Amino acid sequence: MTFKADLKARMQCHLLDNYYRCKKVCDRCGAIQPMDSRPHPMTYKNTAKDAPYARTCKDHDAYMAAARHPTPWCAVEGFQFETISFDTMHLIYLGIAKNHVPSCLKILKLWGFYYESSDETNEKFLKRVSIEMKQDCKEHRFLVWLYLPKRVLTLANCGSFGTEDYCELGSRFKAAHIRVMVWWVAFKVRQLTNNTEDQVLRLLAACSYSLAQAQDLMDSAGLILSPHEAAEISRMLRVHLRSTEFLASICWENSIMAFKMRPKHHYVWHIANDVLTSRLNPRLHHVWSDEKFLGCIKKVACRCHGSSVQKRAIERYLVALSGYLAKMA
Ligand SMILES: [Zn+2]
Repeated sequence: MTFKADLKARMQCHLLDNYYRCKKVCDRCGAIQPMDSRPHPMTYKNTAKDAPYARTCKDHDAYMAAARHPTPWCAVEGFQFETISFDTMHLIYLGIAKNHVPSCLKILKLWGFYYESSDETNEKFLKRVSIEMKQDCKEHRFLVWLYLPKRVLTLANCGSFGTEDYCELGSRFKAAHIRVMVWWVAFKVRQLTNNTEDQVLRLLAACSYSLAQAQDLMDSAGLILSPHEAAEISRMLRVHLRSTEFLASICWENSIMAFKMRPKHHYVWHIANDVLTSRLNPRLHHVWSDEKFLGCIKKVACRCHGSSVQKRAIERYLVALSGYLAKMA
């Protein structure tokens, strides 16, 4: 029905000129990645529904008219440029949520909502957060607690929780772990900031709740969405993007290294648009099973000798597959 892959494969398979490392950051519209801190009208960091780049979105005909090297997939009957989907697993769980989770914790700590004592270090704070996360998930009977990462949050795997660099979860955290963390952060922020009048904390609550809610809606809905479900998922993603944009601006003004805006936020903006027109559940386009398959191949290849790995890995995979199929029969 659609083409699905991560951003790099998307660019390579379709010979796209504009991708996440370019100044023209998007192949679907004219959004720009500014090269300096001056405001730019077409910047992707503007996540409003009617941002200037929204008027430059291309359909299939406009893409075919402008493309220097049209994608080879044009030879496939029924292929449309709009059906090259964005993969939600890489964009949300391994993308924006990697910044979102530690950024929320950092704001809570800086706003004094999470202090056990005033002299608590960042390292102790993160360790306590990890323990609380496991306890909360068990107490509230979230089935997902099984996927919680065994490792605790530390300064090293939160990408410098201090002032030197933007906080970001390390690569050892898998998408399934981050998915649980998104739920827990929304739960904790709501618990701690209930009835607060502080504007930043209210924004933080909206930001974390909307992402967790969009995730819940995608998980619970069928592959073809009703108009109401599609509108709700789109609305939640937009609330998350807009609140993240405001929080990023507040953090920048206060020299807090949190809520970094990334091109992936812009691609989520497109998902929020596409879901309204296509009414396809964005979880249809994620690549959990494909990544799992690569993991299986890697496990087999790691057991082979380096000189014959290309041949042996395939042979051993076929032997394992035949054993699996025989067991299923
Ligand atoms: Zn775009």
